[in-house]
Amino acid sequence: MIPFSWIDGVELIKVLLRHRRTVHTGAGDYEVRPVVFVHLLGSDGEGWGECVALARPTYTEEYADGALAVLEGVLVPMLMECWSARGYLTATQVGECLHRIRGHPMSKMALEMAVLDIELKTAKLSLADRLGGTRKRVEVGAVVGINTDEKGLLSEVAVLVEKGYRRVKMKIMPGFDVCPTRKVREEFPDLQLQVDANGSYTTSQIPELIALDTLSLSLLEQPFADDDLLSHAELRKVMSTPICLDESIRSVNDVHLAIALGACDSLCVKPGRVGGYLSAVAIHDVCVGAGMPVWCGGMYETAVARSANVSLASLPGFSLPSDLEAPSDYLEVDVAEMLEVRYGEIDVPTSYGLPVWPDEDILMQVATERRWIPVKKQ
Ligand SMILES: [Mg+2]
Repeated sequence: MIPFSWIDGVELIKVLLRHRRTVHTGAGDYEVRPVVFVHLLGSDGEGWGECVALARPTYTEEYADGALAVLEGVLVPMLMECWSARGYLTATQVGECLHRIRGHPMSKMALEMAVLDIELKTAKLSLADRLGGTRKRVEVGAVVGINTDEKGLLSEVAVLVEKGYRRVKMKIMPGFDVCPTRKVREEFPDLQLQVDANGSYTTSQIPELIALDTLSLSLLEQPFADDDLLSHAELRKVMSTPICLDESIRSVNDVHLAIALGACDSLCVKPGRVGGYLSAVAIHDVCVGAGMPVWCGGMYETAVARSANVSLASLPGFSLPSDLEAPSDYLEVDVAEMLEVRYGEIDVPTSYGLPVWPDEDILMQVATERRWIPVKKQ
């Protein structure tokens, strides 16, 4: 809990990072990775949060510059007003305070994360303990983007296999699906392999998707548009490869609907897409109750949010390998150092609060905007 006299203000820091190589997906291509950090500063310390919205609104409607604007103009003032009126603030209250604002779950998550950070440090609790984690280590999977150069694709996968990642996820899209996936399968017959279409298919392309059934994939992620649960349910009746939903799931209610329709076999949980770590836990709990496995997806985030995701992935229902590869694999420069991956696993952090904070020296080099919002005390 943050007492009334604690917060002096909130700093919003936008940094511009670069991908090591252009990331190609069925939803868009990314060369740069802008990230907005929330830095809560008060009388006794500080708390950090990361907004994982991408450069452009290609994954969901949110994007980094929009997030910066809504945080500065709407969400931070509203949260501070709520804190002033109540006399204190807890992480569970962040969602309540901001519920009148529709959408913007990634921006809301960044604020929840910063409050949670302070709360956990005060209570001397690790994030994993707070969320209900039960594992000491979690399995790590990695992702390859669309690479139309066959040799290049195989060598990218080979590097990940060499590094010991427990499974590899390939991005696919219409025209880049069965053939490249078969090549990877032939080269790596024992690899745990899954594919992600980022909603790029329509029902007229179901035959192409069914052809993937021969490739022993552990799952096919989000073949159709995010609002098309019925087509996912129809596909599930005719495919043997398990269907996983990502973009379609933004709330617990979405999970209930997807289960009722029989639209998926598993879920990719991303705290940013669902409004924060506490909502992610609620979704995890519903899935555990329904016997549905989940795993933690990635947003090409920095080590700050990615290390927090390790804590989330330590919950018992996260029974599939999560996208937790080191950001140094995809970012030229990161704002902090990621926890070490060893033999395809990563230790769940036990330190109090967020496991990793941004390094101020690196922030000085990569920040493109810093905005200070002082709190008006009553
Ligand atoms: Mg996905």
